[in-house]
Amino acid sequence: MEELTMQKLVAYCKNRGFVFPGSEIYGGLANTWDYGPLGVELKNNIKRAWWDYFVTKDENSYGVDCAILMNPRVWEASGHVASFSDPKMDCKNCKTRHRADTLIEDYNTKHGIEMAVDLMSKDEMSNYIKEHNIKCPNCGKCDFTEIKNFNLMFQTKRGVTEDNSDVIYLRPETCQGEYVNFLNVQRTMRAKIPFGIGQIGKSFRNEITPGNFIFRTIEFEQMEYQLFCKEGQDEKIFDEYKHKVMKFYHTLGLPEEKLRFKDHDKLAFYAKAATDIVFHYPFGWEELNGIHNRTNYDLTQHQKYSGKNMLYTDPVTGEKFIPYIVEFSVGADRLFLTLIANAYTEETLDDGETRVVLKILPRLAPIKVAVLPLQKNLSEKAHEVFKGLQKDFVCDYDESGSIGKRYRRHDEIGTPLCVTIDFDTLEDNTVTVRDRDTMKQDRIKIENLKSYITSKIFGDN
Ligand code: ATP
Repeated sequence: MEELTMQKLVAYCKNRGFVFPGSEIYGGLANTWDYGPLGVELKNNIKRAWWDYFVTKDENSYGVDCAILMNPRVWEASGHVASFSDPKMDCKNCKTRHRADTLIEDYNTKHGIEMAVDLMSKDEMSNYIKEHNIKCPNCGKCDFTEIKNFNLMFQTKRGVTEDNSDVIYLRPETCQGEYVNFLNVQRTMRAKIPFGIGQIGKSFRNEITPGNFIFRTIEFEQMEYQLFCKEGQDEKIFDEYKHKVMKFYHTLGLPEEKLRFKDHDKLAFYAKAATDIVFHYPFGWEELNGIHNRTNYDLTQHQKYSGKNMLYTDPVTGEKFIPYIVEFSVGADRLFLTLIANAYTEETLDDGETRVVLKILPRLAPIKVAVLPLQKNLSEKAHEVFKGLQKDFVCDYDESGSIGKRYRRHDEIGTPLCVTIDFDTLEDNTVTVRDRDTMKQDRIKIENLKSYITSKIFGDN
């Protein structure tokens, strides 16, 4: 298969009902996207897989779903008001806005230069851009304004007055909800350290760089998990979870050779360790997931700014302390892109034709089973089978076009199994079940269909 381009992937997602450009009929809104009928199923399955793996199936794990709008003091305590910013500059010629660090990184990647751009000061970045004559990607000129820090938080106002005291923020990360509720969860669930809190929810960042489709958007969903532990347990937990998180991506079908750990060159002043899991996207190696040892910084800050005690009391020793936090975090949209880019396949068949197949893990597939009557006059029996399967699986009923075309249509959107109703079905209550990947067909009794499909779709669990 030719190398997959982002252009091809975006067109595929749009044409097959996975992802549409946001507000398209109005010319769109940069870095926003809408999920279509297949996209929303796939995304829900991804979120469910994450939730089951980290929250439901772990004894010391709890979930929350916190408000997007929080008291603005939260963002002062977290440091976001003062310093959640990117180094931006404008092109004086065409007036487009760019992130200085990203332009340097792109230039370095193109020229095979390895350096830690996140260690550079604003002056160093500015000089580097001039010395290497790094050009504006839009107009090709190298004539930029001075680099300034640009806060990424979206602001809005609460109430009707135009007073600055009413400013509130759309949360730029979900984890602060987990921090401020740490003691609520601990008390109500009688949780003992070490324990974890997971959350899935929307976050918003006023990103200025072009997004590479849903890789970087201004509104996105995060799946974030915080492990609360005692100082001294943190390093072991960080190491354990690094591998547990990596294993999770392998269980979703992402191959080992496309995933790597990448330690941060520069740590936040409070952090003890930070590693990204990076994936090999069509546009290069980029962050999929972050893992951080945040020490006791977050809860200490919240204790300081709220004036409320954030101490945990050890039930055995009575010792009181502010817990350390190990966090891992991934964007549901970014994982969606990762999985779809990895699964998209073009195969050349024996007859020379090309078959597009979305080789996504069966349990993540948006539609699990397609029911296809061989001919329209078999539709009554086919509907009966469809109605029966719909109780347990997301199904599609399709009777338009030749059977070959219908198989291709379902291969393309990743439907793992196609159930075909033919004239023998009327005689002996059996159907043909075709496998997406092998294209092999099995003859199965209708009464055994549910257990056959269940083991094929969820057998990897
Ligand atoms: P990046 O360096 O890619 O901007 P980050 O280091 O700022 O990411 P974190 O703040 O650690 O990211 O966020 C955790 C995860 O949330 C990221 O690993 C990524 O999967 C996801 N994420 C962050 N920003 C965005 C965004 N603008 N759009 C989509 N997903 C995002």
